[in-house]
Amino acid sequence: MTQQEFKKTGLRQTSAREKLVELFSEKRTWSAKQIQACFNDVDRATIFRNLKTLQKKNIITPIHAHAGETLFELAGRSHHAHQICSKCQTAICVPCPIKSKTEHNLEFFNLCQLCAK
Ligand SMILES: [Zn+2]
Ligand SMILES: [Zn+2]
Ligand SMILES: [Zn+2]
Repeated sequence: MTQQEFKKTGLRQTSAREKLVELFSEKRTWSAKQIQACFNDVDRATIFRNLKTLQKKNIITPIHAHAGETLFELAGRSHHAHQICSKCQTAICVPCPIKSKTEHNLEFFNLCQLCAK
């Protein structure tokens, strides 16, 4: 999402939200814990509050992943699969290899680029 699109949502642009939008522009999902690790000075409650607001505005959406924690990603992405790192649990959005039109949800485990190094 661009800053321009963000402004259209009518959200007040705090630096925390600005940063959140930046994170969600990446083709991956985020858990609240992973997000908190990206901020040094923002408490968990603030992160949860901002996530809730973004979710209410349909900017981000929770996804049902295998991992215990709720993962969020940018809303409105076309159908895709998730590659979950078996070491750091990061879920990356990847093209879905399944051609079937019936509803499905594909997740597979593999090391992410950082952990594979
Ligand atoms: Zn990893
Ligand atoms: Zn995704
Ligand atoms: Zn698919």
